[in-house]
Amino acid sequence: MDILITEDLQSPAIDALAGKFSVVREPLLWKDAAKLKAALADARTVMVRNQTQLTADLLAAAPKLLGIGRVGVGLDNIDLPTANARGIVVIAPLEANAVSVAELTLALLLALARKIPQADRSTKAGGWDRRGCTGIELAGKTLAICGFGRIGKLVAVRAAAFGMRLVVSDPFVKPGDATLAQTGATLCAKLDDALAQADFVTTHSPLTQETKRMFNERTFAVMKRGAFFINTSRGGVVDEAALLAALQSGHLGGAGLDVREVEPPKERTAFETMDNVILLPHVGAFTVEAQTRTFEAVASDLSRLLQGQPAVNFVNFASPKRL
Ligand code: NAD
Repeated sequence: MDILITEDLQSPAIDALAGKFSVVREPLLWKDAAKLKAALADARTVMVRNQTQLTADLLAAAPKLLGIGRVGVGLDNIDLPTANARGIVVIAPLEANAVSVAELTLALLLALARKIPQADRSTKAGGWDRRGCTGIELAGKTLAICGFGRIGKLVAVRAAAFGMRLVVSDPFVKPGDATLAQTGATLCAKLDDALAQADFVTTHSPLTQETKRMFNERTFAVMKRGAFFINTSRGGVVDEAALLAALQSGHLGGAGLDVREVEPPKERTAFETMDNVILLPHVGAFTVEAQTRTFEAVASDLSRLLQGQPAVNFVNFASPKRL
């Protein structure tokens, strides 16, 4: 088998691959670790989004695997050290959806500031509650950006255009960074320094051991009363129980969450009942443009690997290192 697709992925780019290679599409395979393991034993490449957990154990059971195509960004579902050790190319078009996620982040900022979901619901219910829909302006407010990589920087440029003051927390960014200068953003040495100043906090860091539950009871307490929290990165960077408590106590003014600790959430929580919380089903990368760019980049690279050519959108090395 040339290409194993373990999730419900659909794109003209995949259809084109099926014309050239032997492609097995199993939309629910990610749910069944034993079946996934058996299928991987025969696969030359595998295409996943974020539901399939490609663990060390599974990769060890895939002796023919040349490459993994990750349709999206965020490599927390792939055991990268094991892929590296086994010489497997990991493909992820890191740039392909950054603009879409940044735009969604601005959409959440504006929707929270102007109470757009509440206004929509009340107007559709027959109301005309202009006073109840009174919001705040973004101009002049302080936005803390935690994680100043591809997406964080695109958010900064867009938020600066709205006249926001920017503070940044990212342990790997240097004071001379060009986007800091371009946006007039202040780099804070400590996360708490950024959080304490912010009217809005948005997080754009990867999910790692260091960032896991970085937003918790302690860090929410550092934030200003009435501040808004936005997460379009990974659900695991937030302690959801602590966020809920901060919202319920009125300490935080609202939240916009594109991502959750468990996706989809297994049970309904109080988040769903809160007027000042916007919940989205992880749609940051779901624009026509981002999906097209991502699928085309992954399909093209898998095709290249299968024909003995180096990948372009690799995150470790361009060609497989046969053991
Ligand atoms: P990136 O690697 O370009 O940037 C991440 C930044 O986070 C880096 O600058 C890094 O230095 C910084 N960082 C690392 N540890 C940190 C810490 N402890 N505190 C603060 N910053 C830290 O990644 P990106 O492409 O900008 O993606 C950002 C996030 O968005 C990732 O979590 C990714 O998984 C997520 N994402 C979500 C969607 C979606 O659909 N919602 C789509 C794409 C990416």
